[in-house]
Amino acid sequence: MNKTELLGRWTKEKSEELYGIKNWGAGYFSISDNGEVLVNPYRNNKESSISFMDMISGIRERGLDMPVLLRFENLLDAQISFLNESFLKAMKSLNYQGTYRGVYPVKVNQQQQVIEEVTKFGQRYHHGLEVGSKPELIAALAHLKDKEACLICNGYKDAEFIDLVLYAVKMGYKCFFVIEVPGELDLLMERSKALDIDPYIGIRIKLSAKAGGHWTDSGGDRSIFGLNMSQVITIVDQLKEHGKLDCLRLMHYHLGSQIPNIRDIRSAVLEATRVYAELVKEGAPMGYLDLGGGLAVDYDGSNTNYTNSRNYSVEEYCTDIVEAVMSILEPSEVPHPIIVTESGRTTVAYYSVLLFNVLDVEKLEEYELPDQLTEETPDQIKYLFEAYKGLTLKNIQECYNDGLYYRDQIREMFKHGTISLRQRSFSEKIFWSLISKIAKEKTKLKNPPPDLEDLESAIADIYYCNFSVFQSIPDSWAIDQLFPIMPLHRLTELPKRNGIIADITCDCDGKIDRFIDLHDVRSTLPLHELKNGDDYYLGVFLVGAYQETLGDLHNLFGDTNVVSVRIYPDGNYDFVKEIQGDSVADVLSYVEYDPKELLDRFRETAEDAVREGQINPTDRREIMRAYDTGLRGYTYYER
Ligand SMILES: *Cc1c(COP(=O)(O)O)cnc(C)c1O
Repeated sequence: MNKTELLGRWTKEKSEELYGIKNWGAGYFSISDNGEVLVNPYRNNKESSISFMDMISGIRERGLDMPVLLRFENLLDAQISFLNESFLKAMKSLNYQGTYRGVYPVKVNQQQQVIEEVTKFGQRYHHGLEVGSKPELIAALAHLKDKEACLICNGYKDAEFIDLVLYAVKMGYKCFFVIEVPGELDLLMERSKALDIDPYIGIRIKLSAKAGGHWTDSGGDRSIFGLNMSQVITIVDQLKEHGKLDCLRLMHYHLGSQIPNIRDIRSAVLEATRVYAELVKEGAPMGYLDLGGGLAVDYDGSNTNYTNSRNYSVEEYCTDIVEAVMSILEPSEVPHPIIVTESGRTTVAYYSVLLFNVLDVEKLEEYELPDQLTEETPDQIKYLFEAYKGLTLKNIQECYNDGLYYRDQIREMFKHGTISLRQRSFSEKIFWSLISKIAKEKTKLKNPPPDLEDLESAIADIYYCNFSVFQSIPDSWAIDQLFPIMPLHRLTELPKRNGIIADITCDCDGKIDRFIDLHDVRSTLPLHELKNGDDYYLGVFLVGAYQETLGDLHNLFGDTNVVSVRIYPDGNYDFVKEIQGDSVADVLSYVEYDPKELLDRFRETAEDAVREGQINPTDRREIMRAYDTGLRGYTYYER
């Protein structure tokens, strides 16, 4: 019996704890008795749970290859309901006199399907949209049918943009023109006069409150957008001069995204509500208080004020906001406004899951080293060997330092030609044996030296996976954001290996070596040994917000296949939409190649080879077919 058998069998409960799925999954994801990850769109109704492995076979049967982005429309629906219900509940219990009107900021995931579903599922709550550019406004106007819902226009606006906003108002939309910079008012007044349409005006303010976290540069005094208090007063005076103060209906601020600390949210609401009350005193009708985004997602499940988490629930967020607004307005007798929030991340993060297969694993080899070195061995290699042989718990740091020092020396000697390639190769075997030995010994220490902290990831297995970090989870690379990642099956088996993840871009940044943990950040992820010939699938969760349209064409890996799933309460499900990812020809044309011309050019090359007798015409046909198939194929690793 080995040690793990003695400790008892590995169970799904142990996997739940290891990967933290109950902490970050928000009830939407869980593990089945046979060790597979399930999606539960109806949270408590287990009848409707679907295994990812079932969906993967369905996708395979339809001829789509990994990687695949799965979108669950039910989860979008559920999150919109959850947010609206939470606000309405908080308002009811605190006896708030206004109501809530959420808007979805289009930039967080602009895919047509998302906008279509948000406006469809949001209709029962009059959930609206927020746009920051002309293209977003044009998409929003075509999808939003609900005239009660808000359509909030932020961003820089030219005359064309302004005209569209005004026409929307004329058609009965609650379409707000938010003034972001002082100069915008003149053009708005000019167009409004020309078209004879009164706008709904909002102003975006800068708060002095700032929030922690690395997404949060949009708040505070130095943010690019928004008006400071003297600019606010100037706008109010200008509106009075135009006789249009009655158009001022909304006040907006945006503190930044993913605000982990509820105290920052609270202090911003308090400050903003004070400004709101003053605007009412100035004589503006107002009515809408728009608190922007910032409602965070608990990516690591730790429920703390760490940047990838949040120290509050959605319910607490709603209650705190409503309470804060009421506490400021209480003494001033200003009517309770309609509260608007622009929550994007929370609305869509759960919606998408990235699935991919593991292509290969590279393990650090265990080398057989001799007991003794020959006389002729260069001294530096001998010293390295001594560090390896003489390692004990007491001199662990010293041996580690020696190892690094002599490895560098040996590399220098190789450059100067005093050491052969064979000798260098041998020295590297010693070096890695030393590092493995140190990593093993280190686990026996209560307080291992800080230098040795990163050793696990240095000796971890490398799992080569069929996806591109840059295309599918760009924030993992750009801002070190953590996403929950775990195997989708075999979760009743002990994951014996510790791995890091490498994508197939072959870029040294195309890897993941930081993983979620309740108390810390892990440098490796526990994974299963590959079984001969069996596929091994991993999922990256909570990737619905910000990842899809930030992705780039690094190494010309294009969009992945996308499959949308609709799940019914009885556990049946449909693939409602399948979108083929980019082909090689697609991505090449994005960088201005012409696929037809490529074919022609290559055909000429092949014809030359025929003429020169390197290949025959039959070869040529086969080669051209291979080229053509390659051009039409998926950019990722195909079976
Ligand atoms: C990006 C953005 C949002 C979305 O914020 P989340 O934190 O994702 O909810 C809302 N409002 C504005 C103005 C934004 O720029």
